[in-house]
Amino acid sequence: MKKEVSICWLRRDLRLKDNAALYHALKSKYPVLLLFIFDKNILLKLADKKDARVTFIHQSISKLKKELLEKNSTILVKHETPEKAWAQILAEYNVKEVYANHDYEPYAIKRDDSFSEYLSSEAIPFYTYKDQVIFEKAEVIKADSKPYTVFTPYYNQWLKKLNDFYISSYPTERYFENFLQVKDLPFPTLEDLGFEKSEKTFPTLHFEEKLDAYDTLRDYPAKDATTHLGLHLRFGTVSIRTVVRKAQAHKADKWLSELAWREFYMMILWHFPYIVDSAFKPAYNNIQWRNNEDEFNAWCEGKTGYPIVDAGMRQLNETGFMHNRVRMIVASFLCKHLLIDWRWGEAYFAEKLLDYEQASNVGGWQWACGSGNDASPYFRVFNPTLQLQKFDPKMEYVYEWAPEYKLAISPVPIVDHVFARDRVLKAFKKALT
Ligand code: FAD
Repeated sequence: MKKEVSICWLRRDLRLKDNAALYHALKSKYPVLLLFIFDKNILLKLADKKDARVTFIHQSISKLKKELLEKNSTILVKHETPEKAWAQILAEYNVKEVYANHDYEPYAIKRDDSFSEYLSSEAIPFYTYKDQVIFEKAEVIKADSKPYTVFTPYYNQWLKKLNDFYISSYPTERYFENFLQVKDLPFPTLEDLGFEKSEKTFPTLHFEEKLDAYDTLRDYPAKDATTHLGLHLRFGTVSIRTVVRKAQAHKADKWLSELAWREFYMMILWHFPYIVDSAFKPAYNNIQWRNNEDEFNAWCEGKTGYPIVDAGMRQLNETGFMHNRVRMIVASFLCKHLLIDWRWGEAYFAEKLLDYEQASNVGGWQWACGSGNDASPYFRVFNPTLQLQKFDPKMEYVYEWAPEYKLAISPVPIVDHVFARDRVLKAFKKALT
């Protein structure tokens, strides 16, 4: 006889504590089996077989499995497309209900829409919840019911709405006895998934120590004063509600606003999904990019002859992380100094960043290019030399990642700043006026 179960399908919420969908599943009348699908649609697109994000997910699921073992339960892990995985699951179990948390990326929305249809054809209810943000979709909107497209008024409204109700934890632990009591189930190794273990190190969850000095130090890459929490927020190994409560406890207002930027971009992506590969401000689609491949490769490798750009790209290539100020500088340099399409840069970041988040990455790139929300006007072009003087005056960050700049003869810049500025202004003006 097939076992009757409620399935809680984890995707980017890899934790047992304070998890909205899991809380509701555990309160249902059926025993709960957790599920994770290593989605072949996603994995097959990853070129690097040592992709650190796959290692991170694998480690996080292994950790969950250990926690569940203590509760005489386990996690069902599939390596399939969601369609095939679910066909197998319905053949193996008597699935009474399915629970999951919302996901706002276009691929995920499409997946969940067709999954929802499939489940309803099988007469199985599918319950979904907000979990990865404090406010989602149209919860923070303008008085005329339209979405905000500029951050500051959005944030004012976000702050106004924020109260204890939205940041209290879901006490899943009260219901842990409702996990399905089951013996171990097969668990694919990284090799089974077609990957190898990455040697990259992952940030810890000790972020609180960074919060008190965040406001004053956050813009100096050599200080490494930001929390590196992006990876954990991406995969839900920490709860956003816990994180916001910590921000409040430390009165870390600037940091809280960064968490709201994350939600702002998710809200924007949900309302305007076309922005994944098209300019938010359509006129910017008319820009005639130069798209020189040699120059793009030099940028990717950190060989532009601009110290702060090169240091940033090397940090990204070696660690999977890049400091926010430097992300802005390298992105601006690619779109403006080299006149290379922001989508090329966005795709490169997507491949390399441990904390890759489609909404924030597209948002950040379109901001840098000038085509996005709240972007500075196109005629404001970052000067990488002035940025270096201001934010890494002793070249500590540069020397750490691009030590050749210590030598008497430094690399030659790939393009002259004044020339490049003039060129981009002409190209943008032509497209936009
Ligand atoms: P902290 O400064 O400690 O901030 C805490 C958290 O707040 C971050 O982990 C992140 O979740 C959120 N956050 C902070 N700043 C921003 C921001 N400007 N926009 C949105 N969320 C923010 N962030 C991503 O999470 N994924 C991306 O793929 C991404 N791509 C970017 C691309 C470009 C071109 C630019 C300019 C920015 C991008 N950002 C992205 C935003 C930001 O650079 C990173 O969130 C931040 O550097 C991550 O470091 P941290 O975790 O130490 O952040």
